[in-house]
Amino acid sequence: MIREFFSPAAERLDLSPRVSDEVKHTTCYMCACRCGIRVHLKDGQIRYIEGNRNHPVNRGVLCAKGSAGIMNHYSPARLSKPLLRVGERGRSEFREIEWDEALRIATEWLGEVRRTDPRRLAFFTGRDQSQALTGWWASQFGTPNYAAHGGFCSVNMAAAGIYTIGGSFWEFGEPDWELTRYFMMFGVAEDHDSNPIKAGLAKLKESGAKFISVNPVKTGYSAIADEWIGIRPGTDGKFVLALVHELLRSDRIDLDYIVRYTNLPWLTIRNPGGADDGLIARGLEGEPLCWDGATDQPANAMLAGVTPRLAGEVTLPDGRRAIPAFELMARRYLDDAYSPDAAEIETGVPAGTIRRIAAELAETAFERSIVLDQPWTDWAGRRHDTMVGRPVTMHAMRGISAHSNGFHTCRAIHLLQILLGSIDCPGGFRYKPPFPKAAPPALKPAGRADQIVPGRPMPGPPLGFPTGPEDLLVEPDGTPQRIDKAFSWQAPIAAHGMMHMVIRNAWAHDPYPIDVLFMFMANMSWNSAMNTAETMDMLTAKDESTGEYRIPKIIYADAYSSEMVAYADLVLPDTTYLERWDCISLLDRPICSADSAADSIRQPVISPDRDVRPFQDVLIELGTRLGLPGLVKQDGSPRYPGGYADYIANHERAPGIGMLAGWRGEAGERNGAGAPNPKQLERYVANGCFWEHKLAPGQRYFKHANRDYLEYAASVGFIGKPDQIVLQVYSEPLQKFRLAARGHGPVQPPDALRKRIDTYFDPLPIWYPPFEGSLIDTDSFPLHAITQRPMAMYHSWGSQNAWLRQIHGTNPLYINRGTATRLGIEDGDWVWVTSHHGRIKVRVKLMEGVNPETVWTWNAIGKRSGAWNLDPAAPEAKTGFLLNHVISDLLPAQPDGLRYANSDPVTGQAAWYDLRVRVEKCADEEAKTSAPAFATLNAPPGMPERPSILRYGLLYSRGWRRKQEEESR
Ligand code: SF4
Repeated sequence: MIREFFSPAAERLDLSPRVSDEVKHTTCYMCACRCGIRVHLKDGQIRYIEGNRNHPVNRGVLCAKGSAGIMNHYSPARLSKPLLRVGERGRSEFREIEWDEALRIATEWLGEVRRTDPRRLAFFTGRDQSQALTGWWASQFGTPNYAAHGGFCSVNMAAAGIYTIGGSFWEFGEPDWELTRYFMMFGVAEDHDSNPIKAGLAKLKESGAKFISVNPVKTGYSAIADEWIGIRPGTDGKFVLALVHELLRSDRIDLDYIVRYTNLPWLTIRNPGGADDGLIARGLEGEPLCWDGATDQPANAMLAGVTPRLAGEVTLPDGRRAIPAFELMARRYLDDAYSPDAAEIETGVPAGTIRRIAAELAETAFERSIVLDQPWTDWAGRRHDTMVGRPVTMHAMRGISAHSNGFHTCRAIHLLQILLGSIDCPGGFRYKPPFPKAAPPALKPAGRADQIVPGRPMPGPPLGFPTGPEDLLVEPDGTPQRIDKAFSWQAPIAAHGMMHMVIRNAWAHDPYPIDVLFMFMANMSWNSAMNTAETMDMLTAKDESTGEYRIPKIIYADAYSSEMVAYADLVLPDTTYLERWDCISLLDRPICSADSAADSIRQPVISPDRDVRPFQDVLIELGTRLGLPGLVKQDGSPRYPGGYADYIANHERAPGIGMLAGWRGEAGERNGAGAPNPKQLERYVANGCFWEHKLAPGQRYFKHANRDYLEYAASVGFIGKPDQIVLQVYSEPLQKFRLAARGHGPVQPPDALRKRIDTYFDPLPIWYPPFEGSLIDTDSFPLHAITQRPMAMYHSWGSQNAWLRQIHGTNPLYINRGTATRLGIEDGDWVWVTSHHGRIKVRVKLMEGVNPETVWTWNAIGKRSGAWNLDPAAPEAKTGFLLNHVISDLLPAQPDGLRYANSDPVTGQAAWYDLRVRVEKCADEEAKTSAPAFATLNAPPGMPERPSILRYGLLYSRGWRRKQEEESR
C-alpha cells in the first residue's frame, strides 16, 4: 500500500521538462550588471530566462529581476508606434505617425540646429549602455551639450577614483573576493553590481572574512554584514579620515607601498601667496621631483633607484622651498580635528569603535598579509619573486556619491586604501581592465567656443577630465559654455555632465536658450529629476511674448510609456532589450573582471511585434540623414547601412580599435586590436555573446606598476603608453583651480565663486558637512532622508513588471522605532514629510535597523497615476511616493542671493542624499493616499488594453493545452 502510494507518482514526475524549442544567448538588461543569460523560446514566445553558466559576470547566477525580464518584454506599457504631439504638452495627446514622418521631423529639427548653432541641441541619455555611440554621435553633431545620467548617479565615485588611483569602484574595480580577509562596504545600495556582489559576499561568508557595512540603513547587504555601522548620512568622510588619523598616529601604514606607488614622496612648493604655491616641484623636463635621501639632492621621483625622503622642508636649486606631500598629508590628519573623538560628534559612531576598526584594519593588513608565489616584473624592469598583499578591501557607491561632499569622501576612502597598501594587491581592491589609466587620463572635454562650428563635428568628445582652469568650458568672463554648466566654475570636474540641471537651465535660457532637447531613457519628469513639480512646469512653460514653449522642441525615445512621454513633442519608440543588437564595449563600461578583459553583446532573440525600432539604429539613421561625417561616405551614402550591428562590427574609433575587442582582424584572428571583422558578431553569438581575454598570472596584480600588464594595456589601446601609473594622493589639478581662485593664472573664476573654489579644491581629501544641512535651520528639519534601491527593482525599470510589482508595488517611509515613539507615530500612520522645499504625505513603517536620525524609502517605486499603462488607482500611484518631490534642484540662497545647484562643488554630482526633513503625524481626517497627487496621465495611443490580471504563461499550462486540444477535436 505504502509503495503504491509513493512510487508511481514519484516516477511520473518530470523533473526537467523541456520548456523550450530554442535557446538564444544574450545579455541581461534588467539592471546595469550585464549578466549573461540564456533565453528559452517556445512557439516564437519567450518562455524562460536562465543565467549563462559560462558567462564571466554571473557564472549562471540570475536574480529576481533578470528572470522577470519576460514581463518587461511582454509589458502592456510598451510603446508601439512613433507619436507626434497634437495637444498641449504634458497632456499626453498624440497622434500615431509612420517612421518616415518621425525621422523626417527629427531630421528637420536637428538639421536646423546643426546648420546654425549646434549648441542648441541638448542630448542627454539615462542609464543606457551605449554611451560609446551616443557620446561619439554628439561630438559628430557638434554639440557639447551631451551627457548620460552619471552626474545624477555616481560621478563623485568615478571622478574621485579616476583623479586619485586612475580607476574606481563599481564597473572599474572589484574587491579581491577570493583572498580578502576584511571587507568594508560604504553606502552601497542593493541593485548596483548586484549579482557579482552577492556572489562575492557568499565567498566572504565561506572564507570567514569579516564584512563591515557602513550605511545608515540595515537592509540588503548590510543585513548580512558581520558588523553594521549605522552612520549619520553624509559623515562617512569624517569617519574614514578618523581611521586615517588612527593609522598615522599608531604608525601602521605601508611606507614601502607609499614610496613605490604614490605621489606622496613628491615635493610640493612652499610659497604662500605665490602663483606656484602647492604645485609639484618639477625638473627641466617636467618630471616630478623628490628629495633623494641617499644623495641629499633633488631627484626625478619617477626613477626607480631613488630613496625619497618623506618629511622635511628643503631648498631647491632655484632657491624655492618645498616639502614632501607626505608631510602635508601626515600633518593634516594627525590633527585632533580628525581624531576619533571629533569624528564621533559628527558621525554618531563611537570613538572606541573607530579605534577598534582602525586596529583591525592594520592587524589584517600587516599581520595577516598574503604572499603569493607568483613572480612579476615592475615598471622599471625589476623582477619580484612574490606578490605581497594586504587583505583589506573596500567598496563604495551611492551613499557616498550622492552627497555634496561625496568627491572628497571618496578620495578619503582611496587614501585609506593607499595607506594600507591595498590597491591592486592580493586581497585588496583590484582594477578591472581597461583600468588603471593615468590619474586623470589626458582626455579633455571639447566644447570651447572655438570648437563649436555649425555643420562640423567637435574635435573631441564632450566629456573629459580637466586638469586646470584652462580646460574649463567657459567664456572669458566665466559664463558657462554648456547648458548644464558642467566644466564651468560651478562644477569644474563634472566628468559625467550635470543632467539634473538641463531642464532648469534650458527653461531659464541660462546661459542660453536651446531649440531641441533630445532624451533617451531618461525619466526626467519623474524619478530622474529633483524638484519634480517645478520640472513638469518648466517642461510646459511658455514664453509670454511669443506663446512658444520655453524649451521649443522635445524628442524622447523610450521603450515604455514612462512619465516623461507626456512631455515629448515627438516620441521615438524603442525596442525591449531582447529585440535588438547592442554592445557592452570596452570604450564604455565593459564586463571585465580583475583577471580578464571582456566585452559582450546583445542579439535580438525575438522580433518586435510592434512598429518600434532600436534607438541605436534610429540614432545612426538620423546621423546619416544629417550627413554626420562619421556616418556617411564621401559620396553621401550611408557608411553603416546595416544600422547599429554594422556600426558595432565595422566602426573604428582609432586604427584597429573598435566597439568590440574580440575576434578582430579580417578573419577574426586578433584580439584587443585589429582590423574590423565582418563576421565578428557571429563569433560573439557562437561564444554565448561575450569575449574574454584572461590575463596571465603575472599580470593580475599591481597593474598600475606591472610592466607586463601595462605593455598589454598599451598594445590594445587601454592606455597611451606603458608608463607607471602613480597614485595621486596629492592632487595637483585641484591645487591649480585653487590657485586660480587666489588670483593666479590667466583663467579666473568670477569673484562670487572664488571662496567656494578656494575652499573645496583642496589637494588633499577634506570633510565638510553636507550643504543643505548647513544652509537651513536643522532644528526645523532634524532628520536626514535618503533612498535605498531594492534588489528586485532597478530605478523605474521594473515599474511595469507584473512579477516585480508583486514584491514592490508600493513603498512606505521607514522610521527608527525609537524616533517614531518620540514623535508619537505608530506603525502604519500617515505623516507629512516636510523639507525646506516642499512636503509629501506618506505612510510609515517602523524598524530598528536604521540610524535614529534618518528616514528612508525605496527609490522610484511611486508612480504618477496613469503612467506606465498602470491602473490609475494602482498602489504605486495611490500609496507609493517619491522623495524627489521634496528635494530641491537648487540650494537655499546664499547671503548674496546666489543659488547654487544642489550638487557637489567639485564634480556637480546631484546631492539628493543631503535632504533634511521633519516628520509630523497627519490629522486623522486627512485622506489616506500619498500626496502630492498629480493629474492622471492619459495612455498614449496604441497602448494595448490593460488587463486587470496579466495571465502570462497561461498558454503553457496543461489546462489551457487540454482546452485547445478539446476545441480542435
Ligand atoms: S543582476 Fe542585473 S543584469 Fe544580472 S540577472 Fe539580475 S537584473 Fe540581470
